[in-house]
Amino acid sequence: ENIIEMSGVKRGYDNGGIRALDGINLEIKKGEFISVMGPSGSGKSTLLNMIGALDHADEGSIKVAGHDLMKNKDFSRIRSQEIGFIFQFHNLIPNLTSLENVQIPMLGTPLDDEKMVQRALDLLKSLNLGNKLNQFPTRLSGGERQRVAIARALANHPSIILADEPTGSLDSKTGEVILELLKDIHRKEGVTIVMVTHDLNVAKIADRIIRVSDGKVE
Ligand code: ADP
Ligand code: ADP
Repeated sequence: ENIIEMSGVKRGYDNGGIRALDGINLEIKKGEFISVMGPSGSGKSTLLNMIGALDHADEGSIKVAGHDLMKNKDFSRIRSQEIGFIFQFHNLIPNLTSLENVQIPMLGTPLDDEKMVQRALDLLKSLNLGNKLNQFPTRLSGGERQRVAIARALANHPSIILADEPTGSLDSKTGEVILELLKDIHRKEGVTIVMVTHDLNVAKIADRIIRVSDGKVE
């Protein structure tokens, strides 16, 4: 069963006619862990933005977790129900604590305050951050920040996690810890993971590596 299906997906920007995506065909099975590799500017981030319902395609078809993204207009709902994002630079909100940052994705959901706090607590504890609940991001190490970001990504039980260079800003030892966590989450939660990386050693932990070049999957 495919959780992601793209066919003939094109996306251009007003930058002289070069297409960021130039006919992407891609099928990803539910529960797969995929690495996406390719040179800088090849379209990896744009591809992730399409899957994550952050951006619309110009042409083609995109189905994500049963939603037809070429027809569906409610991108923000699909995003918050189906997708967890992890970025290279954690993107935590600086004036919110760990506990508050993890609650952000739940704000638009029917959960009440008590349930949101409980979920955030459980996630942070499971990621070994039980002693950093009220800390602000500036007071955390790089690895701790990325763990808070992972907790935030998991908040709404997403079916897909999209990770854009999740180890790119970390030293190699901390990076390994983060990768182990992702593998763990993949194994235990059965979530589908799509991870962009430049680093073959990082990419290798996935079930499958796909390569993007000039806006196409090779
Ligand atoms: P990478 O994925 O290689 O680490 P980025 O995705 O940040 O790097 O950027 C890749 C290329 O896309 C760069 O040349 C950058 O200038 C360009 N780029 C990214 N975002 C934008 C944007 N919002 N506007 C214009 N160019 C952009
Ligand atoms: P990658 O993640 O592989 O580095 P990107 O998806 O960021 O590649 O970029 C693919 C192409 O689209 C590049 O040529 C980049 O400059 C261009 N691009 C990406 N985002 C924008 C944007 N917002 N505005 C204009 N051009 C962009």
